[in-house]
Amino acid sequence: MTENEADTVRAEQIGRRLGEVRQRITDSVRASRREDQPELIVVTKYFPADDVRILAGLGVVDVAENRDQEAAAKAAETADCHLRWHFVGQLQRNKARSVLRYASAVHSIDRVSLVTALGKAMDAEQESRSGHGIGTRPDLLCYIQVNLDEPSGRGGDGGGAEGGDAGRGKAGRGGADPQAVSGIAQRIMETDGLILAGVMAVAPRGMQPERAFGRLAGISGELVRDYPAATGISAGMSADLEAAVGAGATHLRIGSDVLGVRPALG
Ligand SMILES: *Cc1c(COP(=O)(O)O)cnc(C)c1O
Repeated sequence: MTENEADTVRAEQIGRRLGEVRQRITDSVRASRREDQPELIVVTKYFPADDVRILAGLGVVDVAENRDQEAAAKAAETADCHLRWHFVGQLQRNKARSVLRYASAVHSIDRVSLVTALGKAMDAEQESRSGHGIGTRPDLLCYIQVNLDEPSGRGGDGGGAEGGDAGRGKAGRGGADPQAVSGIAQRIMETDGLILAGVMAVAPRGMQPERAFGRLAGISGELVRDYPAATGISAGMSADLEAAVGAGATHLRIGSDVLGVRPALG
């Protein structure tokens, strides 16, 4: 097979898998009698920029990454594709400035100090743009990531949190405790250049996704009561897309069912 033929095979494969995922979304929207259509965000982590380019050619506009270095490189390589980049991984404060150079949205805001860092980085970015005669960047869409693990002692997936790390998500799934959401939301609202978009979660291991996303929908409802525009619900991965659509997800983050199995995490 020549390199060109291999490229064509890959494009056809991605096209077919993307079609299947879009069909699943359509089917689950219909099954849950929703009238709105959730947005598909394709998670491209670990896959090359060439795959991102193929996706853009297939009409994908929203793509996501979970590591700043990889995201920055891919966004630069595909700058001509006019994609919207979503950052979905754990974010350190010292990466805030870098993320603002390419990201339209951050889905993984889990603490007030990160909001403060993003606000400062936004000021610095706008100042630098104006210094270079470049137009201002659009406001950053902010989703508060919620940890949906059951409080220990109420069953859940057994075992229970031991040691001094109560309240943190297991295995790096991350997110703020539900009680912390309103404080983080308030800080986002107070910060110039940041827009409160809604909530995000990853279904905890061992919890039925319907149950997890039901909880998330409840937390979203409380947020929307205080901030009516913050209606976003970023939920649903390859394995639990249908449950997320059923629970009202507005943004689905799908990786492996579009691009294939990722190499094992390092
Ligand atoms: C990798 C990732 C996804 C996509 O997961 P798949 O199971 O490959 O669909 C979604 N959300 C986050 C936060 C991720 O890190």
